[in-house]
Order: sequence, then C-alpha cells, then structure tokens
Amino acid sequence: MFNKILIANRGEIALRVIRAAREMGIATVAVHSTADADAMHVRMADESVCIGPPASPQSYLSFPAIISACEITGAEAIHPGYGFLSENAQFVQIVEDHGLTFIGPTAEHIRVMGDKITAKDTMKALGVPCVPGSDGGVATLEEAKAIGEEFGYPVIIKATAGGGGRGMKVAQTAADMESAFMTARAEGKAAFGNDEVYIEKYLTTPRHIEIQVFGDGKGRAVHLGERDCSLQRRHQKVFEEAPGPAISPEERAEIGRICADAVAKINYIGAGTIEFLYEKGEFYFIEMNTRLQVEHPVTEAIFGVDLVREQIRVASGMDMSFTQEVLEINGHSIEVRLNAEKLPDFSPSPGRITQYHAPGGLGVRMDSALYDGYSIPPYYDSLIGKLIVHGRDRGEALARLNRALGELIIDGIDTTVPLFHALLAEKDIHTGDYNIHWLEKWLEAQAD
Ligand code: ADP
Repeated sequence: MFNKILIANRGEIALRVIRAAREMGIATVAVHSTADADAMHVRMADESVCIGPPASPQSYLSFPAIISACEITGAEAIHPGYGFLSENAQFVQIVEDHGLTFIGPTAEHIRVMGDKITAKDTMKALGVPCVPGSDGGVATLEEAKAIGEEFGYPVIIKATAGGGGRGMKVAQTAADMESAFMTARAEGKAAFGNDEVYIEKYLTTPRHIEIQVFGDGKGRAVHLGERDCSLQRRHQKVFEEAPGPAISPEERAEIGRICADAVAKINYIGAGTIEFLYEKGEFYFIEMNTRLQVEHPVTEAIFGVDLVREQIRVASGMDMSFTQEVLEINGHSIEVRLNAEKLPDFSPSPGRITQYHAPGGLGVRMDSALYDGYSIPPYYDSLIGKLIVHGRDRGEALARLNRALGELIIDGIDTTVPLFHALLAEKDIHTGDYNIHWLEKWLEAQAD
C-alpha cells in the first residue's frame, strides 16, 4: 500500500479522496492554484503545494507542475478525481514514465474509450448492446444522408472526440442533415481538434441509465447496478438516483453481467461507468467514462462500499474487497448537485459565503468544500456541493431529501437549491416518471 498520495484536483472531490486516504492511514498532498490558497482541500490535506496561477492550464492541468509536486513531497501515486486530468491518456503515460502510479485505468483503456467510435466498436465486439447507426465514421454528406434514409429520422450526428454535450447535433428530417452534419464536424474540429463524426438513431424518450463497473486489472470485474441520471439540463446531470425507478432486478442483473464481463475481458482496472440510453426495455450503449463519476455516492449508499478506497486498493496491486456475490442493494439513494448559479438562467454566481450550515441526521451525506467566509473563485466549475440522501425506499429518500434541503443554509451567493425545492413538488418526480427531456421541458414551462 502507498504511504502518500497526491490529489490532482480541488473542491469536494479532493476532500472525498483525502477522507478515504485518511481512513486507510495514507498521507495526502493537496495541490492548488493561487486562487485556491484558502480552499478546504488545502486545509484538510497533510501537505500542500501551490502549482500555479488561477487558470487551469497553468495549474490543475499542468503536467510538469503536478509531477514536480509529487517529486518534492515524495507522493507515490496520483488520484485525479473527475474532470481535469482524469481521462487524459498522455498524462497517465507521463505519470508512469516517472515511476509513479496513476489511481485509475491504464493509458490504453482511456485512449480506447476516449474516442467514441473506437469505444463503440470495442463495446459491440464485447457483446454490449449499442444504438443502431453508422458503422464507424461518416466522411461525406452523401453518406450521411444515405444513413439517415436507412435508419430513419431523427438521427444524431456525433463528433467521435466529443464530450460534455459538445459536438452533437440532431437532424429531425432529411432537410436538417446538411446543417447538422456540418455543425457537428465544425464543433468537433474547434473544440477537440478532430472533425470525424458518426451517426446514430436518435431515441426520442429514453432514460439515461449508467452501470457502475469495477475491475481489478487481473481479469476480474463486478458491477454495482445502475444510476438513473435522466434529469439533465443541456446534457449536464442535476439529480441522480440508484436504483433506477424503471429498472427491474432481472434487467439489472442481465445488463450488469454484460458490463462486468466486458470490462473483465479487457482487464479493466478501477472504477468505470458504462452509459446507456434506455427505452422500451432496451439498453443502448453511448459511452464509457474511465473515472470516478460525480454521482458515485448514490451507488456507495445502496451498496455500502467506499469506491475511492477500492480504487486506491487495486491501484496498489491489492484485490477488491468485495465479490459480485456479496454486493447487495440496500434501500434507495438520491443525489442533487448544488451549483453556484443564479436561476432561472443558471448564470455563474461565484462570491463570498456569508453563512453555511450543512444538513445532517440519519441517511444524509453532504459532500462539499464550503465553509463560512469562503470565497468561491470564478475560475472553475460551478459545482459547490452534493447532497446525498439514503432511505429504506424511494419514498423515504425523497422525504429525507426534502427535509435535508430545508436544513441547508448557503448565504451570500445564488445556488440551484430552489430548483430542487420546486422539483420535489412535482408529481412526476415522486412517481419516477421522467426521461432525458423532462427537465428541459419543465424549465421551459416555468419560464412561460
Ligand atoms: P457526451 O460525451 O458529450 O456527454 P454522450 O454520448 O454521453 O455525450 O451523450 C450525452 C447525452 O446526449 C445523453 O445523455 C443523451 O441525453 C443525449 N444523446 C446521446 N446520444 C443520443 C441518441 N442516440 N439519442 C438520443 N439522445 C442521445
């Protein structure tokens, strides 16, 4: 086991990793930009190193700054959290070249899954069900139109290098194809330096269901069920739950086994998420995330496992502490993402927190790096916390969420908390009757 690890991240996820490491008796090193000198992760870690100015490319994304921080402090391994360098294959290679350990998958796994066409081909070959569509890349508009005719409109044109909802365009009819095709290519080129695109049938009312997988890198892997993350705004998740209200135990067991077998076959190591769209009882693979997800705590709640601890274990060469047989679902968990944003347009709202009070009590977990008097810098992601609740069933989890939101105080800035109060008054949220378009439609209706 490692003696000391460095966390190449900030905010709540840096605290999350520090907490797991501390329980394991591992010393921690925080890195921070000059804008984060007073941040909670810096205070909570055993040591800290300032790695550069506020702009991420010169600090949280700087390979030399982070590798030097490891060398100065004697950290043996790096946990990347999510975002920043967590899915950067080149970084993983450099970490390994310096004799350090990356707490996550191999550079090769990240590379394969980071290109959507290669990821889809790989998953298809491993027996994972995919969205019907083009066989690989589509180079010309004529080819694109032919595929539109073959699969039937609407279709979605996706940049193979895309991510974060960018580089995707829907063509509702043949008349839309030219502009959708050209725009997806241009976005792919501009944002990711790659204009290759592919085409999929556009599913009109799917749910977003993702399967948590975990591998030991030695050909063993398990699944930890699904999360339903259908409540999204601009393809960004805002409310996640496990288990999924629309998924039966039989469906879970089957898709879970397919996913665990697939990642076992490629000797996957660590935590991964296989994302699907789910419609009319069928699962369709869309992408794999080769990292810990923001919403991992709902899975931890229902299975009673610490996924970060397991990541650290397998990265150090140890076995996972569980097998598929012992993983059993207990109750229901919901997470809401608290962002420093002003409603109704979700514009960023950084600034000084004048008062902060976290909710508590049975079944309540608040993962946040906020504290009284903290100033949220304007340079980074707007996520300021995650409120996670756990109950014996979905009804109890919803009641607990309502109660916990009522206790939460974040003064001084605007947050997305009022959104969740409003959502909890909606019948569809209580019946679980929603799909990936529900929230956008609801927000539009509120604006009218
Ligand atoms: P990104 O990497 O940019 O997040 P994904 O491939 O994961 O892109 O897709 C993000 C979201 O886009 C999905 O959660 C879903 O809402 C929508 N989407 C993607 N593919 C399809 C499809 N074939 N049909 C309908 N919606 C889709």
